[in-house]
Amino acid sequence: MPRSFSTTAVPPGVVTGRDYRTLLAACQHGRYALPAVNVTNTNTINAVLEAAARNHSDVIIQISHGGARFFGGNGLQDFHRARVLGAVSMARHVHLMAKEYGIAVIVHTDHANRPLIPWLNALVAFSEVNYAQTGRPLFSSHMLDLSAEPLENNLDEADAMLRRLTPLGMGLEIELGITGGEEDGIGAELGEDHTANPSFYTQPIEVLTAWKRLSPLGTVTIAASFGNVHGVYKPGNVTLRPEILKNSQELVSSQCGGGPNPLPLVFHGGSGSDPAIIHEALSYGVIKVNLDTDIQFAFARGVGAYVQHHDTAFQHQLCPQTGRPLKKQYDPRTWLRAGEEHCIERLNDAFTILGSRGKSLASPRP
Ligand SMILES: [Zn+2]
Repeated sequence: MPRSFSTTAVPPGVVTGRDYRTLLAACQHGRYALPAVNVTNTNTINAVLEAAARNHSDVIIQISHGGARFFGGNGLQDFHRARVLGAVSMARHVHLMAKEYGIAVIVHTDHANRPLIPWLNALVAFSEVNYAQTGRPLFSSHMLDLSAEPLENNLDEADAMLRRLTPLGMGLEIELGITGGEEDGIGAELGEDHTANPSFYTQPIEVLTAWKRLSPLGTVTIAASFGNVHGVYKPGNVTLRPEILKNSQELVSSQCGGGPNPLPLVFHGGSGSDPAIIHEALSYGVIKVNLDTDIQFAFARGVGAYVQHHDTAFQHQLCPQTGRPLKKQYDPRTWLRAGEEHCIERLNDAFTILGSRGKSLASPRP
């Protein structure tokens, strides 16, 4: 009989250590994925928590280095400190608030290439201090993205990072093959023949090499590229080949065991993707789907519609015709809430498409 994870509970709030691994295993065995939503402020965090609670789903909240710098304050001149403290502030907000929503949350950081290793090291140092004080790290996991470098360099750094994360109960996401897109400066215009560049497609043998070396060291998730790009592009410019994920799973399963789909895989560039492709990717063991661009657009649409509808209040404190105060309309709580509500609507779809709706493992610990 297959092992059932449906009765295995984790406490509501941020999960780390054994609870983090239990949640990943539940996704793998249940063949569903959690949305990993990029956040930039407390509004987007609260929208993600609210949407997850409404859908009774667990969720991943992550921040990029740019998002972390914004979170810390774009006015700060020391970018390194701003993105370190911004990410710490984000994680602390999530730790404080997440349990109020009754769901389990993975707190994660997005792409860090070689120049950003000092950023990761500083964040791990914060987790070490937190661990010494409370027995728990500040983040559930980090991502190290050295996919632009030779595989050996990528794995050497991942090896060293994992040896530091595992004692803290944290996991590591790595990337093999390159996710293209505007934010990466790789195939940015997508004018070139995207399908001709082999870097956009991970080789299953690389996945096997990485898994053999890293999985004995701790909890590893793998972003394997199958032609995916960050952002939303005109149809036809991107050729997705999810069978690369299937081939990687089969190779690893035959060489290392672990049953079908032994690899916990990550799908970058999920925004704008055809639900049929997402379903296919889920069947090949994808347990995390990153959502950034679509959520940014949802927030902008919500705010934009509100501002259009109440345009007078964005130019005058008092109505020019009646003299009536317009404070209730320009109060940031109203238009920021409109942004949050649109994010929640978009996330409702994500929880449904990814199959995580109604599957939260969180329940109060007896
Ligand atoms: Zn990505």
